[in-house]
Amino acid sequence: MQIKQHALTLDKQDPLGDKKALFVLPENVIYLDGNSLGAMPLAAQQRAESVVREQWGNGLITSWNQHNWIGLPQRVGDRIGALVGAAQGQVVCCDSISVNLFKVLSAALKMRPERQVIATTKDNFPTDIYMAEGLISLLGDSHELTFIDEQNIADALHEDIAVLMLTQVNFRTGYRQNMEAITRAAHDKGILVVWDLAHSAGAFEVALDACQADFAVGCTYKYLNGGPGAPAFIYVASRHQQDYVQPLSGWMGHASPFAFDPHYQPADGVSQNLSGTPGVVGMSILDASLDVFEGTDLAEIRNKSVALMDWFSQCLKTYELDTELECCSPPVDVRGSQLAFRHPEAYAICQAWIAEGVIADFRAPDILRIGFAPLYLSFGDIAEAVSRLHDVMQNKTYLQPTFQQKQTVT
Ligand SMILES: *Cc1c(COP(=O)(O)O)cnc(C)c1O
Repeated sequence: MQIKQHALTLDKQDPLGDKKALFVLPENVIYLDGNSLGAMPLAAQQRAESVVREQWGNGLITSWNQHNWIGLPQRVGDRIGALVGAAQGQVVCCDSISVNLFKVLSAALKMRPERQVIATTKDNFPTDIYMAEGLISLLGDSHELTFIDEQNIADALHEDIAVLMLTQVNFRTGYRQNMEAITRAAHDKGILVVWDLAHSAGAFEVALDACQADFAVGCTYKYLNGGPGAPAFIYVASRHQQDYVQPLSGWMGHASPFAFDPHYQPADGVSQNLSGTPGVVGMSILDASLDVFEGTDLAEIRNKSVALMDWFSQCLKTYELDTELECCSPPVDVRGSQLAFRHPEAYAICQAWIAEGVIADFRAPDILRIGFAPLYLSFGDIAEAVSRLHDVMQNKTYLQPTFQQKQTVT
């Protein structure tokens, strides 16, 4: 009970406490998976209704101009840019991380024609690795992919590397790279860097311009709460836009799409990354979702994330769960907004916890992963979640056959 009292005190002092009211959350559910699919802002629900009913239903094709659908990718891109430290005109919203990686890796390799290596980490999210593999195979295996140790990147860099492709926050452990130091070390060797911000954008301050980042990609359905399958984003630093050429040369990335010119001529700047027609419904919902960040700064969000993670660990200790669940996340100064715990029954524990109304997730082979989304999580939620975890662990309900069976999406 003391825990719940203390949580109440922490909630009273929380400067972000009123943000939770901007979200629609199911009753009696505690959501610790905002790092996989962010919760739904009320504004998103309202926009979904109006974009379908009014803009599409009534406006029909006139809405491309009337509601400026055509300008959505740049407008939403700039709003995302503001959250990742990018000045206007360098971010555009489009496609998925996977597709955007293909574009940006291709363009970066073209800018380093004398070099043949893409470097990344083994622990990177698989799609990042797969896309690099696919590109290399398309290039006739003239290039190669090399893996470097995530703990020791700067020392592994050498002058055969054209592009360093890194995810800032490790999706399993939460290990966070120092963007500024690594970018500098790479530039010292003439290497271009592509940052994947999947677990960074909306979770803490990112300073792409200040770090002299070259390129970045990220998704919007995690901490940016854009909704399932929401479009991703891509950043091309202004200084590279002149030399940047990406191969998915669709009409929306043409200098003047409605001239219907038989030859491709890329649009100026980051807009060249648009390929086909944007998914207007999803992008509109994302646009509305970004309203929850208005009037908040990411330093404040980070402060709360750190406090929530610390509080979670304290609660685990109080319930004496900290020895049974082995934390495999790094210290907080090199960590994103998540905690990972190893347990041989991690999958079943996660399922049993979900049955108690606490949604976290599992990452193969044995990780129970907990995401901390400060805009809609309270300290009381954390205390309650750990109390329910205590019940699951004490009664070993996770041993029940229903919780042992793997579903398609884990
Ligand atoms: C979530 C995630 C992705 C997802 O890629 P999509 O193509 O948008 O599905 C990619 N990379 C990382 C590091 C991720 O965490």
